[in-house]
Amino acid sequence: MTAPVTRFAPSPTGLMHLGHAHAALFAQGAAREGGGRFLLRIEDIDRSRCRAEFEAAILEDLAWLGLQWEAPVMRQSERGAAYGAALERLDALGVLYPCFCTRRDIAAEIAAAAAAPHGAADGGAAGPEGPPYPGICRGLPGADRTARVARGVAFALRFDSQKAAALLGDLAFTDGPQGSIRADPHLLGDAVLARKDIGTSYHLSVVVDDAAQGVTLITRGDDLLPSTHLHRLLQALLGLPVPDYHHHPMIEDETGARLAKRDHAMSLRGLREQGTTPAQTRALAGFPD
Ligand code: GLU
Repeated sequence: MTAPVTRFAPSPTGLMHLGHAHAALFAQGAAREGGGRFLLRIEDIDRSRCRAEFEAAILEDLAWLGLQWEAPVMRQSERGAAYGAALERLDALGVLYPCFCTRRDIAAEIAAAAAAPHGAADGGAAGPEGPPYPGICRGLPGADRTARVARGVAFALRFDSQKAAALLGDLAFTDGPQGSIRADPHLLGDAVLARKDIGTSYHLSVVVDDAAQGVTLITRGDDLLPSTHLHRLLQALLGLPVPDYHHHPMIEDETGARLAKRDHAMSLRGLREQGTTPAQTRALAGFPD
């Protein structure tokens, strides 16, 4: 096996907690084990939620924890042109459509479908990210779309999962603990690939950037396993290399609850203020020296 390139990709929306430390140490460990490289990417596309002081805290906390990443650090806020080019390519393949819906429109449609005599009582098979988008804008006539755009109605770009499934044959990805997994084109439904407010999305940016950084082994929490199904399809459509994956369990605190991002006591900053050493923190994050 060639030496892996791994990465840690935090969003600077708050202080890092033990869960982040676990993910970062896991990624660095995987690179070291295989004699590879460990990279850092700041996922700051959502400018309303990301703050410069949180990015500074991430860099400081990671260094305090003893992590060493290879320069340069990639920042998603500087990558708009690459996301635009990827969207153009997907659009040329016919797998995007504009969606003018508000959250309220979508919730109303889901409720109406559930209330209909033959509707699914639960509003349809709920996907890993809640009920899938009910397809309101998928079949809008072209003239209708053009008129709405001309009127200045804001729109997101959604992934046409049905068209993509028809274009692509069977696809699979490898996940460390589980081996080969068949990519389900419908698992996330017609996900938003370009949000109304930021013109991109987590899914699009992460796929484009992992390829741009030459990441060959993506390690991350198993809460993101459903997303990987969509990412695999995007890689195929965009002609990008396919990395290996290793989705790891999320570490949990003593009460068994998922570590809350806003729980200051469990933030690396909080632990440090309480006198916890980097080595003790690494052990708490599941990586004793
Ligand atoms: N920015 C994402 C997060 O903090 C990273 C997801 C990933 O590793 O793909 O959850």
